[in-house]
Amino acid sequence: MLAAEYIGNKSFQVVEGTKVEPKAGEVCLKVGYVGICGTDMHIYHGVMDARVAPPKTTGHEMSGTVVAIGEGVEGFAIGENVVVRPLDWCGDCPACNAGNTHICHNLKFMGIDSAGAFQNYWTVKSRTLHKIPAGVSLQEGALIEPLSVATHDVSRSRLKAGEKAVVLGGGPIGQLVAAVAKSVGAEVLVSEPNENRRAFAEKMGVKTVNPIDEDLAAVVDEWTGTAGADVVFEVSGVKPAIDAMTEIAAVRGRIVMVAIHSTKPEIDLFKFFWKELELLGARVYEAADYDWAIELVAEKKIDLAPFISSVTELGDIQGAFEGMDGNPEGMKALVKCTDEA
Ligand SMILES: [Zn+2]
Ligand SMILES: [Zn+2]
Repeated sequence: MLAAEYIGNKSFQVVEGTKVEPKAGEVCLKVGYVGICGTDMHIYHGVMDARVAPPKTTGHEMSGTVVAIGEGVEGFAIGENVVVRPLDWCGDCPACNAGNTHICHNLKFMGIDSAGAFQNYWTVKSRTLHKIPAGVSLQEGALIEPLSVATHDVSRSRLKAGEKAVVLGGGPIGQLVAAVAKSVGAEVLVSEPNENRRAFAEKMGVKTVNPIDEDLAAVVDEWTGTAGADVVFEVSGVKPAIDAMTEIAAVRGRIVMVAIHSTKPEIDLFKFFWKELELLGARVYEAADYDWAIELVAEKKIDLAPFISSVTELGDIQGAFEGMDGNPEGMKALVKCTDEA
């Protein structure tokens, strides 16, 4: 079997890997498709080398089929299609004990801290698995992980039908947040400087604004009859969005922090006082967010096909990463990891 290894310095090598027999509580999956995300690109650029410790098989947005089942695993059968929720929690820390295993104090992220899915077969703990029904393809399955980021964000926001939500940033996660927000019956405005990304959102039936050329606050004022947005999703990670989020939120508006801000930006805390705003963090996903994401795709409430920009064979994983590097138009590149034609 083949396995791709990130070896540092924007490079992958494809090597003969080892199919790991599932131990108790584990399942071996034949990998279907694996998506490339922003985190994978960060790894590719070497900024996470200390944590990743190359050479390592990375990849965490995947779909696959059960091919072997370890002792004591119940509820799964050989031949079933599944997706992995790539979190490995300790089960015995204050967060885990409070039911927040997804933000465990000792959380390990599979495909970063341990071996990932860019290989023909991947052996994982069965507690990470979610079944995908017959109507959901393996290609769509590979997008359940990023879609679950979006369902988690929307779940944290308590967004309701009829409310107005602004998404700051129209990359893949921002667009998926917009799609989930729309599916609950909210009206959505995506703020994004890139023209092609705005066009992508508009095809989904979402309003857009270019925050460089237009006055975002004025657009939101007009759109909401000066009330402001009930919910603001900060998905961009840039300073102007931090300034905008408190400006455009309605009184008692909820702001969801989805982006990873590696520095400590200045935030207008006066507006939190003045408008009684709420700031909610949202990190990865819980099991229920996966269930919701799978249901949205199975019931055809969200069409993932437009999100798939390219599909590349595992043997050319290097080309897949090079194609996504500095390409803001690419939404989701998939790597086909199955060893079948
Ligand atoms: Zn990812
Ligand atoms: Zn824990």
